[in-house]
Amino acid sequence: MKKLPLSVRWQMLTNDLIRNHARYILRRHPNKKHGALLGGPGSGKGTLVVRLGPATGLNPLGMGDVLRREDIQKEYGDRLAAMSKGGLLPDPLVHEILERELKLPAYTAGAIFDGIPRTLRQALLLERTLAWQGISLDWVFLLEFDDEELVERLTHRRTCPNPNCRRTYHLKYSPPAVANVCDACKGPLIQRKDDVPEVIRERLRKYHEEIVPLRAFYRARGVLVEVKPPQGSTPQTVFDTVIQHLKRKAQA
Ligand SMILES: [Zn+2]
Repeated sequence: MKKLPLSVRWQMLTNDLIRNHARYILRRHPNKKHGALLGGPGSGKGTLVVRLGPATGLNPLGMGDVLRREDIQKEYGDRLAAMSKGGLLPDPLVHEILERELKLPAYTAGAIFDGIPRTLRQALLLERTLAWQGISLDWVFLLEFDDEELVERLTHRRTCPNPNCRRTYHLKYSPPAVANVCDACKGPLIQRKDDVPEVIRERLRKYHEEIVPLRAFYRARGVLVEVKPPQGSTPQTVFDTVIQHLKRKAQA
């Protein structure tokens, strides 16, 4: 808690007040579960979230997928295009899209966030959006790998560019059945431009900068589970570890 600046602690307090207000005055406290996954580029969050969905009964809410979806593009296209030049999405827009998204029947049981939050600022924003529903994140997993392993994973990563599929593969750990062909949609696989070593190093540097305050924040909230998979872990072993933590959490 000491590591968090006063302004952040102040916002946390405000979020608590909003949540209590929503619970007791607005009578909003649906019996839902929400989780989030944090981890560096190449840590396998995308693969994990796809597996966790059916195992937990919670639908994955991938921010990237939501922003690429047709109905969102139609409604927010202009504002999204403006942001793609400048980088980060403006907070009110993220709040609006998330709030609308969480009302969908797909999330009646809850959601697992993937791709959000990336920064402490987004974490506070997500917390506030959930607080208005009288809810908060129940768990946050942080997947920690050594940088070298992430570089190795990313350089071996192949992605399906089909916008309706977007499956990812690892040439060693989870290769496609037929070389360079997507198992799901049978389209050709590509290596993303940002999955080359120099770009990966830069992405990792940025990630380390952002994860320090995020980690402190979720530790202070008491929901963080830090998982350090041993070298060479497969998506299956990471999934098993996470599921075991969730089972223990449910029993506690
Ligand atoms: Zn595909």
